[in-house]
Amino acid sequence: MLPVFRPRHRLHRLLTALSLLLAATLFSSAAASAFDTVILDPGHGAHDRGAAIGYVYEKHLALDTARRVEQLLKKEGLNVIMSRSRDVFIPLHDRSALGNSRRNAIFVSIHYNYNRGGSGAGAETYYHFSSSYMLAAYIQAYLVQRSSMTNRGVKSANFHVIRATTKNPAVLVECGFVSNSSERARMMTGEFRKRIAEGIAQGIIAYKKSN
Ligand SMILES: [Zn+2]
Repeated sequence: MLPVFRPRHRLHRLLTALSLLLAATLFSSAAASAFDTVILDPGHGAHDRGAAIGYVYEKHLALDTARRVEQLLKKEGLNVIMSRSRDVFIPLHDRSALGNSRRNAIFVSIHYNYNRGGSGAGAETYYHFSSSYMLAAYIQAYLVQRSSMTNRGVKSANFHVIRATTKNPAVLVECGFVSNSSERARMMTGEFRKRIAEGIAQGIIAYKKSN
């Protein structure tokens, strides 16, 4: 069964995001590590399209979003490494190996979501190790605020790229549902993907400043 999401007032969404951050600050003992490098990992690629409805493929949305985040972070003086900058297939192990390959780095995997039936909506951010929780909380809060999407929260999960990236904080962001017709219509616009990228980049920068 899927949870039913009632439309939320903008203020409510902001308060939810702020309370999430407060909770993260109060309850996480893991300090944010100093970092100067961001490893961005656009999900899927080539024959692995990811979520797909018609000609809207997750692999394209994720790459476009990651490229936008890359530009925003470079403007802030951060080093950015991309697991892929083209439509190529990268095995999961190579992605996590890249995530472990640099010191003073964070790893952010970018995906779009899918559920059968199309009722799922909103953004969510996953972490595996508790040392990655703060990074997830910052990205989720700013992503929700910037995109006005439903806040599905910060969740722990066992996905390979966040489980096998052990040397740096690692999170996986799900930027809305390809399977949801209204979210799909929004994510097909560059304006919406720009907002998503701004949210992710602002979350990363706020996390860095929280050090
Ligand atoms: Zn995906």
